[in-house]
Amino acid sequence: MSHNDKQQDARVRFLFEDAPVRGAWVYLQHSVQAMPAFISASPAGKILLGESVAAAALLSANIKLQGRLAIQARGDGALRLLVAESSQNAGVRGVIELDDRAENTLALRELLGDGYLAVTLLPDVGESYQGIVPLQGARLQDCLAAYFQQSEQLETALWLASDGETAAGLLLQAMPGAQDDLKGWQHVHALASTISNEELLSLSCEQLLHRLYHQETVRVFDAEPVQFQCSCNTQRSAAALATLGREDLLQLFQETPVVKVDCHFCGKIYQYSERDIDKILGEISPTLH
Ligand SMILES: [Zn+2]
Repeated sequence: MSHNDKQQDARVRFLFEDAPVRGAWVYLQHSVQAMPAFISASPAGKILLGESVAAAALLSANIKLQGRLAIQARGDGALRLLVAESSQNAGVRGVIELDDRAENTLALRELLGDGYLAVTLLPDVGESYQGIVPLQGARLQDCLAAYFQQSEQLETALWLASDGETAAGLLLQAMPGAQDDLKGWQHVHALASTISNEELLSLSCEQLLHRLYHQETVRVFDAEPVQFQCSCNTQRSAAALATLGREDLLQLFQETPVVKVDCHFCGKIYQYSERDIDKILGEISPTLH
């Protein structure tokens, strides 16, 4: 099996006809390589960011609200910051700050030190909702699966892989109300547990589903393109400055007549000067940037 360079970044949802289980598959190459933070990350950072973005793309596939899903982590260990976001329509972006101490592990608790992992739903309209993910498993995929299993009371499993250039993932989730058919879930889950990282990264969705489920009837939906997409804008970057307050802003513009705020997700630079002060202060909001 060789790496398939022709593979497009895509997300594919599917359903089992004979088991109350739905799933999604995702493959990312251009979309993660378009992220400035991915390009500049260490090898371990590329793997962790790639897997996180794949997870966000998978977990946003079935959310009911119109908006975005974010996986966020902050800590005082080697991993200081991780954000991976996907819109419902698979527009993805991410950042990571991971120092060199992290080369030998992908275990989150170890990487984060005193920190947290969270999943946040960011609806286009209305309040965001954040749930703290207990660091119960070693890997991101284990922590996230346990979290969704607890918070939604649905059997959930994730397989994530990244080789530093591409990332891929597979999500299985029991359908709501499927508690009576645990056998169906166990069967489908056991088959998926046989996949290797290499297979995840190299097989197309069709090949993977055939490899795992050639004896099952799987209904596969149309592939959705995954793209790098940043939701930053002038208002959101001004809101970050606004938290300084009028006095500190005035002093800042005394020292630096043109203040540049750059977006960590896409690298876009927003510029402000003293005459923007009223506009900036009008943008105070608790929105995550
Ligand atoms: Zn941006």
